[in-house]
Amino acid sequence: MATTRRPSIYLDHAATTPTDPRVVEVMLPLFTDDFGNPSSSHNFGRRAANHLESARATLAGLLNCKPGELVFTGCGTESDNLALRGAAALIAKQGKTPHFITAKSEHHAVSHTAAQMNESDAAGLTWLDVDSRGMITPDALRAGLQTVPAGSRPIVSIMMANNEVGTIQPIREFVQVTHEYGGLFHCDAVQAAGQLPIDIRDLDVDLLALTGHKFYGPKGVGLLFIRDGLELPSAQTGGGQENSRRAGTHNTPLIVGMVKALELAYADMPERVATYTRLRDRLIDGVLSRVPMSQLSGAHGSDRLPNHASFILESIDANALLMHLDMAGIAASSGSACNTGNPAPSDVLLAMGYPPELALGSLRLTVGKSTTDDEIDYVLDTLPKAVDRVRSVRERQFTMKVGQT
Ligand code: PLP
Repeated sequence: MATTRRPSIYLDHAATTPTDPRVVEVMLPLFTDDFGNPSSSHNFGRRAANHLESARATLAGLLNCKPGELVFTGCGTESDNLALRGAAALIAKQGKTPHFITAKSEHHAVSHTAAQMNESDAAGLTWLDVDSRGMITPDALRAGLQTVPAGSRPIVSIMMANNEVGTIQPIREFVQVTHEYGGLFHCDAVQAAGQLPIDIRDLDVDLLALTGHKFYGPKGVGLLFIRDGLELPSAQTGGGQENSRRAGTHNTPLIVGMVKALELAYADMPERVATYTRLRDRLIDGVLSRVPMSQLSGAHGSDRLPNHASFILESIDANALLMHLDMAGIAASSGSACNTGNPAPSDVLLAMGYPPELALGSLRLTVGKSTTDDEIDYVLDTLPKAVDRVRSVRERQFTMKVGQT
């Protein structure tokens, strides 16, 4: 009997990407041959330190900053925490009260950190509103900055691109406004890195976070840019690594791998981004025309990440839909990977003004280097049927419930 093989289509590149084989290749000898601790003074240590410092110099070149302004961390979450907690500690040391200004549409690594520090009275907090596309305007930021009490110094944290709805923010303008008010600006650029060019000097940010696994680098390694002269204390105590800004033995293989991955991402960015955009737009047009009662969530066109398509599907339980898609060989998500399985509606969609029942019907499809037109065809053929099935099950359950009352 002939069997048809179930396809295996990965459309969750915003959650994570596979590690590029060329990245694995540069990492492998650092586990086995040049495995030394870069802080050791002997030959093994010096060899590892050479790899580490050469990676740092390459990264500084790519991002347009100084090598000494880069701190390697264990992930994007750690970078965001170090930025917010470190900036708050620095301001407190200067005799002022730190005051966060951020949005509920930020990744939890930022929004939960700011909220927790506010609850423990370590910092003030002003939430910024976002519009229905997830955008913050420079005027809204200015209004937020005007709420900062005397004796406080603002720390503004706004992401470059949103992980759930793909909206890109005008970071440069935000930085200008923040600096007018004497504030520090942190940018979570985790989703943008590898798809948008990041020029730190041009952006003029004070702090900026990245993580390796979103651009075909390894998991478990991140980066925080800290502007020269900002003496952020280490969030964890221990050794004096990273100029006493991040204690703990360097993970040289992962750091070198992350830098190689970003180098590769910069090398083919224009062509890759053009392909992503074309595939993304095929998904957006196809879903909106073939799935009844569907709408795009987040910004349109060039205000949206090139690889990112996200939707609100009415009368849909996203978890049920994701299960159907998974059974059909399509890996998608309903938003942040960190919240998968959580029955609560997403903070991001609520902040954008969606009522909870609509926010529960979110679908995110994010393309990557391996995505093909055939895969998009298959998704556009399969998704409407899966949506129909989930809606009819829901309708039957509703009718049964009504019948029981
Ligand atoms: N910030 C954003 C915008 C993200 O999308 C993510 C991960 O999804 C993070 C931070 C956290 O990064 P990591 O998974 O490396 O901790």
